[in-house]
Amino acid sequence: MKILITGGAGFIGSAVVRRAVREGHEVVNLDVLAYSANLENVESVASHPAYAFEQADICDKARVEAIFAQHQPDAVMHLAAESHVDRSVEGPLDFVRANVMGTAVMLEAARAYWSRLEGARKDAFRFHHVSTDEVFGALGEDGEFTEETPYDPTSPYSASKASADHLVRAWGRTYGLPVVITNCSNNYGPYQFPEKLIPTVITRALEGKSIPVYGDGRQVRDWLHVDDHAEALLLALTKGELGETYCIGGDADHRNIDVVRMICAELDKVAPANTPHADKIAFVTDRPAHDFRYAIDASKIERELGWKPSIALDRGLAETVRWYVDNYGWVERIRARGFHSERLGLVDPG
Ligand code: NAD
Repeated sequence: MKILITGGAGFIGSAVVRRAVREGHEVVNLDVLAYSANLENVESVASHPAYAFEQADICDKARVEAIFAQHQPDAVMHLAAESHVDRSVEGPLDFVRANVMGTAVMLEAARAYWSRLEGARKDAFRFHHVSTDEVFGALGEDGEFTEETPYDPTSPYSASKASADHLVRAWGRTYGLPVVITNCSNNYGPYQFPEKLIPTVITRALEGKSIPVYGDGRQVRDWLHVDDHAEALLLALTKGELGETYCIGGDADHRNIDVVRMICAELDKVAPANTPHADKIAFVTDRPAHDFRYAIDASKIERELGWKPSIALDRGLAETVRWYVDNYGWVERIRARGFHSERLGLVDPG
């Protein structure tokens, strides 16, 4: 199958690109190369005959239409997005543009292309939208998100992703576009841009800096290794029922502070400092409207598509810590480009 993957130079997109090529698919990677993108993430497949790259903005309708016309994909996996909640608090309009308008443009271009397909190719086409569990808002002490949970987003990021989900469903219902949606919990693993929680902890610790934890660190998140997510996404694309939504999660709910301590313990083994890394934990002012708890009931995708996460959190974290230690040059080259996250006080001018 030839898959047009948007956002394929980012963290999750690149894991999907690498896996899709490995599984024998042809891939067209459409990415604007925004700050969190990195072509190093797809270097291992860059010269593969089944791989093509198009630098393009998903908001540029003419360009996106031309890419559909040129490459004639059998399916779309739409991951391109502004993805960092803190940045959405600082600059929400970028998120509305990329995540809402960009998704609408992708849907319109896909619809025009799909309506011209015929026979088996038309029947087999699908548009898979990759979304987050953050669209459901926050949970209290109990319960889990399911495919039936009402939408209740709290941040500009989650509201923009919720809007995108609604657009995708509307294009399915109004125009009959064959769509599938997945909503996944927090991902971690190699190649994650170093502003997200887990790489922030690892890289700051390796640099001997303080390790910032929001509020009291008691927020609960479900963690899934990015390779497990990529596997679930390709399964949902190829085997998922049209019009259906699948929740994807790692069944690994932990308080942020406990995850940070697990990482510190791992770092003490592979990159010991003079004092235990956990001594560097510093609680910082909480993010506004910080959702208290996310947890996912992934029983539908497990039951219907036979997917289960295969990488336990302790093993996945150990491997991720080791990856960042062994690939520190990847982080340094990003730092040299310059990035900042003002709320965390992480200003790293290039
Ligand atoms: P990321 O920031 O690492 O990657 C996003 C990619 O999209 C980048 O390569 C960027 O260049 C590209 N992009 C952004 N705007 C674009 C535009 N206008 N045109 C073309 N490309 C553009 O993000 P990620 O963590 O890999 O997330 C990928 C997707 O998965 C997002 O849709 C996100 O909402 C979703 N998701 C992420 C998580 C998570 O834990 N990271 C969990 C569930 C769902």
